[in-house]
Amino acid sequence: MRAWRFHGFGDMRLEEVPEPACRVDHVIARPLCVQPSVTEAQLAQGIPTLAYERVKRRLQTEAPLQLFGHEFCARIVEVGRDVTDFAPGDRVAARAKLPCGRCPHCRTERSHLCRLGPVLGFDLPGCFADLASLPEIALVKVDDRISDSEAACLQSLSDSVAAVETAGVQIADTVVILGQGSMGLECLQVARLSGAGMLITVDVRDEACAMSSELGADHALNARHCDVIATIRELTEGIGADVVFECAGGSPQQGLAGHQTVMQAIDAVRSGGKIVGVSFFGGPLEMNIDLMRERSLRYVFPDISTKAHLAHTVRLVASGRIRLKATITHVLRGIESVPQAFQITANKGKYRAINPAQVVMAE
Ligand SMILES: [Zn+2]
Repeated sequence: MRAWRFHGFGDMRLEEVPEPACRVDHVIARPLCVQPSVTEAQLAQGIPTLAYERVKRRLQTEAPLQLFGHEFCARIVEVGRDVTDFAPGDRVAARAKLPCGRCPHCRTERSHLCRLGPVLGFDLPGCFADLASLPEIALVKVDDRISDSEAACLQSLSDSVAAVETAGVQIADTVVILGQGSMGLECLQVARLSGAGMLITVDVRDEACAMSSELGADHALNARHCDVIATIRELTEGIGADVVFECAGGSPQQGLAGHQTVMQAIDAVRSGGKIVGVSFFGGPLEMNIDLMRERSLRYVFPDISTKAHLAHTVRLVASGRIRLKATITHVLRGIESVPQAFQITANKGKYRAINPAQVVMAE
């Protein structure tokens, strides 16, 4: 079969590799639609972000290496002996970070805190290939009302569901979301369903602001055209928002906001309010801890999404409560176009993409 393998950063090649054997608790599936995550698209080029050191080490010692491809919809062609919940023909999506099943966290029903298990696409080969071997515990069945293309977004949506749950949004809370990429737009929609009051979103791209208004923002602010903090203060009677999601930070070379949205989040949240850190920055950053201490701010980070979060995404999308279709701006066809999808996804601002670029691998 064909698979994309990395020989180093910036060097991906489509090569013939042996088909995977079906392990007892795994399935073999044919990828139907796959998208690189923003993190994967940056790592492919060697840009430091989440898991950079780990991927670098693997490339140095194990290349050529099948990497990435954890955001997908695939159809099962074979199931292992111990697989109970899936059958050939089922369409599935997955969560990426898996519990080890053996550590004290996993043994006490806190597997969302486990960091010892494998990550799909990083420690296990993902779906940029004709066939993929996938552990049963990663998977969820995709409802018939959800398209292949929408299903490829469920992994990221399940992380957004986990982020909103971590935020503990209360009925009528004013919520600010900095950044309206795919996770920002998902957090917007999930927060809205979870009882948020006024929803204020911020981006620097007109197309993202327009999408945000369409998907339920009460105020979609373009940071290029207004003073974001002054506007948020005005909308909140001077005190700031109850919850701020920071979904915009990261490498400025890729059109992300650098560190400045963290400082903005601190200025936008009310005293005692919560900041939810969704972005990765690829390095340490300096913060005014005294100011945060003085204002009793809570800076929290999302829990890893669980099987329950992933199952919930199926419900949300199948019932039409969450809309993903509008955010999917670039769809390419054929396994050969995978590098182009990486290119678009790593530079979404330049290509005016909202969701990562998708690749239809098979029908
Ligand atoms: Zn564990």
